Amino acid sequence: MVEIRKMIIPVSRARSGIKRTGLVGITIHNTGNYSKGAGALNHAKYLAGGGKNNQVSWHFAVDDKLITQTIPLDEVAWHAGDGGGNGNYKTIAIEICVNPDSNLTTACNNAAQLVAHLLKDYNLNINQVYQHNHWSGKNCPSELRCGKPYSWQDFLNKVKSYGSLSPSPAPSGKLYRVQVGAYSVRANAEAMLKKLKGAGFDGYIK
Ligand SMILES: [Zn+2]
Repeated sequence: MVEIRKMIIPVSRARSGIKRTGLVGITIHNTGNYSKGAGALNHAKYLAGGGKNNQVSWHFAVDDKLITQTIPLDEVAWHAGDGGGNGNYKTIAIEICVNPDSNLTTACNNAAQLVAHLLKDYNLNINQVYQHNHWSGKNCPSELRCGKPYSWQDFLNKVKSYGSLSPSPAPSGKLYRVQVGAYSVRANAEAMLKKLKGAGFDGYIK
């Protein structure tokens, strides 16, 4: 997965500072900002600068090269347009950038990978991945909703396919264990372990 750069913003009108009391899912957005340079980094900088004092924020912004995280994952962000509803209060918000200098397909793939990690991390399932539209009726994520660069269903399928790949560290730094194999000859197991350790993996024989 591409780098997740933590750029947690100060508490402001944009950053609620309110601790989340539950998690029902992940909400997907498109930024709707088609200006050149309106990628993940500049979206984080915008919020860090107070977000023009608007009550608008998101946890992650994703483009084709970078993911920025601006709000702690246990805090409410203002993104779903449903006031005190579950969208704002009980989901993690991901903005997929649409700036012309970012490849939209790669950005969506990166977002799908991030969603897969979050689902694992928080023990959620694919039915808990929501469009912004679900909460407020807004036409968002506007690109995915009209099949750009691929359909919403394709996006969910990508999340599922990334979810079945392991091992890689989740955003929290949590590691998932995977069993590599079973060997009837101990020497063969030891040889495989040596090979894995050589490749930088942790391992053990039991
Ligand atoms: Zn949205």
